[in-house]
Amino acid sequence: MFAIDKLAITGGKPVRKKLLKYGGQWIEKDDIRAVMNILKSDFLTTGPSVAEFEQMLAEYVGAPYAVAFSSGTAALHAACCMAGIGPGDEVITTSLTFAASANCILYCGASPVFADIDENTYNIDPASIESKITNKTKAILPVHFAGQPVDLSAIMDIAARHGLIVIEDAAHALGAEYGSQKIGSGGNMACFSFHPVKHITTGEGGAVTTHDAALYEKLVQFRSHGIIRDPGSLTLQSGAWYHEMQFLGYNYRLTDFQAALGISQFRKVDRFLGLRREYAALYTEAFKDMRELSLPSQSPASLSSWHLYTIRLNTRCLNADRREIYDALWKENIGVNVHYLPVYLHPYYKQLGYETGLCPKAEQLYEELLTLPLFPRMSRKDVNDVITALKKVLHYYSKL
Ligand SMILES: *Cc1c(COP(=O)(O)O)cnc(C)c1O
Repeated sequence: MFAIDKLAITGGKPVRKKLLKYGGQWIEKDDIRAVMNILKSDFLTTGPSVAEFEQMLAEYVGAPYAVAFSSGTAALHAACCMAGIGPGDEVITTSLTFAASANCILYCGASPVFADIDENTYNIDPASIESKITNKTKAILPVHFAGQPVDLSAIMDIAARHGLIVIEDAAHALGAEYGSQKIGSGGNMACFSFHPVKHITTGEGGAVTTHDAALYEKLVQFRSHGIIRDPGSLTLQSGAWYHEMQFLGYNYRLTDFQAALGISQFRKVDRFLGLRREYAALYTEAFKDMRELSLPSQSPASLSSWHLYTIRLNTRCLNADRREIYDALWKENIGVNVHYLPVYLHPYYKQLGYETGLCPKAEQLYEELLTLPLFPRMSRKDVNDVITALKKVLHYYSKL
């Protein structure tokens, strides 16, 4: 038996005085200097910093092309639209993801079809994808949940057999590896996000990486209203002022001061990833024998970028549900979070006709999931506070 400290939620002393958030950026002096330099330069937007940032991303993931966008959501929209997804098409995506992974399908006038998850990895289950294919299916949009790569070879195999496009939502997966290749280096379009909780940040921002030169040109054009200036691609030869809008695009450009922040942040990507991996390993070591929870299994063939550290509560062993555990941890000043409500359970999606029960494994998992704080700027002391608080709370509510 061990003595159980009184929980903060019942009037005891919290494990820490100051709230620890679940994620956040790390901006240093050099990042600020990089942004200031651009603010004093000639180009706030459409200048050289964007191309430099794109080059860094392409080299890092090992793809020939990268196109920067104003957000990860804009990148997903561009990828779907330039893949030719449109009204009448179905696109299969995972149920356990942020709304953006499915919203981008709706933006194109197509229908998201939600596949269930694999209970071991929490990633989209290839068998569920296969079962949802119809003659309207046009693409598969898998998400590397929490930074753990999906089973890409199984998904590519399904796509090849049915003639489908694959668009990866790699918002969690900068630096993740699948079969010793970085995510984003494959033959598909992969979409990244540079929101402050992601691996590196540009404030808001995103990008698509691709191997396809024609798609690359289209993505650049889509980012600026569908307008083109390159004389070789114009339908009419006219004066030097002449440009053409050839299809309906958007203004989805990243600014140069954001790109400058991205360039400065990119220099630290391996340090940031190393810290995420180190902290994740400390959590795993601390929790691996606790029967009150389980951890997503990690495939030996891949390397997670650890965007999120999620635990699954084993509610059979607890006298409390996820909500009580969540509230108790917040009172200990540990800002746990929940990722994600299955997308189709949002009121907007329900109103479109999606119903509870569609993906039972994702729905069950959602009831039991918690995301622990994990970001490079936290200290080892912060990691220990999370471990102490989680053990304190789970031991208090444990039936074992
Ligand atoms: C962050 C995120 C995105 C993109 O979000 P933006 O905030 O638009 O950059 C897309 N999909 C997932 C799974 C995400 O976590």
